[in-house]
Amino acid sequence: MPEIKKLLIANRGEIALRIHRACHEMGIKTVAVHSTADTDAMHVRLADQAICIGPPAASESYLNIANIISAAEISGADAIHPGYGFLSENAKFAEIVEAHELIFVGPKPEHIRIMGDKVEAKRTAGALGLPLVPGSDGALSDSTEAKRLARDIGYPVLIKAASGGGGRGMKVVQSEDQMDTLMSQAGSEAKAAFGDATVYMEKYLGNPRHIEFQIFGDGEGNAIHLGERDCSLQRRHQKVLEEAPSPVITDEERERMGGIVARAMADMGYRGAGTIEFLWENGEFFFIEMNTRLQVEHPVTEAITGLDLVREQIRIAEGHPLTLRQEDVTFRGHAIECRINAEDPRTFAPSPGLVKLYHAPGGMNVRVDSGLYAGYRVPPYYDSMIAKLIVYGTTRQGALRRLRRALEEFVIEGVTTTIPLHQALLDEPEFQEGQYTIKWLEEWLARQD
Ligand code: ADP
Repeated sequence: MPEIKKLLIANRGEIALRIHRACHEMGIKTVAVHSTADTDAMHVRLADQAICIGPPAASESYLNIANIISAAEISGADAIHPGYGFLSENAKFAEIVEAHELIFVGPKPEHIRIMGDKVEAKRTAGALGLPLVPGSDGALSDSTEAKRLARDIGYPVLIKAASGGGGRGMKVVQSEDQMDTLMSQAGSEAKAAFGDATVYMEKYLGNPRHIEFQIFGDGEGNAIHLGERDCSLQRRHQKVLEEAPSPVITDEERERMGGIVARAMADMGYRGAGTIEFLWENGEFFFIEMNTRLQVEHPVTEAITGLDLVREQIRIAEGHPLTLRQEDVTFRGHAIECRINAEDPRTFAPSPGLVKLYHAPGGMNVRVDSGLYAGYRVPPYYDSMIAKLIVYGTTRQGALRRLRRALEEFVIEGVTTTIPLHQALLDEPEFQEGQYTIKWLEEWLARQD
């Protein structure tokens, strides 16, 4: 079995640090690759080796496959972990990594490819027995077909980009007279953002929750699930806060749906970590997509299962069997993660710049994943998430109280952050009671003006 001795982290920010930490706990040396804007990043300082791979623009650094592979060869790394975002769901990158006799800490390239095309992903999920949102069988060819289909499904419908991601390229169509305009808008937006104008249709669910299952497969036909995460607190289809378990899912429901999901992944021969995303409405699950990588919100699953998901990923990449059988996975307590962004908490305008003062909360069952420190300059070129605060409690109410306490302690000065937004949410009875859907946050924000 190949043993990973040195791993190159093809990412930046908190997730690069997260991967570095797992590696050092496993006795694996790390290689950081970074743009010229990230020379002073925490993970660059902590890694055993650091190699600059280009200028600030991600297209020339974190997405520069040739430079990343060269860095792996120069440093003598034997594996690459892509983190999330950037190249993590790029099947070609995974293939190139493997063609260079390096271990890719991730799924088989063909599975990345299938799930990266949402039309193909839905078809595959359906064939594997996962419940789907009603919609088009595949890509839509023209608006005549779209109108015919929408009449059957019933308005409103959603036009989605086959290559979509991050909630982009989606249009809600309320009635037939909007179809021509919105469908061509969706197509050209998708073309501009993803280089692919292919669109498909789904029934637009009125008020669902976003509930996703974490899975692990060994690539040999064994797979387990690690329960669900509720990511319904969203703004512009982007997750803001996540919790595990979901406040609305019963133990029986988790076992039933988790079983279906794990079986599907076993049948597929899936390797590594993955997330199956569902919308949930009136007690029913509808598959929307699968992410073939580690998720930002993975720590809430770690908190309630006691497992280190990055360690699991690395062990599977080395060819080890899964550490646990399904019956050994137990869920304890409740965990909540807040994504803290360098943004104005009201307007969400980005706020990069110098961090003048930094004090992270601590104490029992509080975890902060962040590369921040006093004197660090948050660069303007990348995602604005600068920290994740994860709290654990034996009950949801306990976790909420701990979250309030931890947010009070958190000091970040110099850049504006979304900490006040999270504090305000904690005062909302509906949030306190777990009564929120994917629309709740935007409606709440609209009421604040
Ligand atoms: P992306 O890959 O762009 O994130 P997803 O398919 O994961 O796209 O959807 C992102 C979010 O968009 C979901 O979490 C949900 O809030 C909303 N959404 C997606 N599909 C539907 C649908 N059929 N009905 C209502 N909302 C949807």
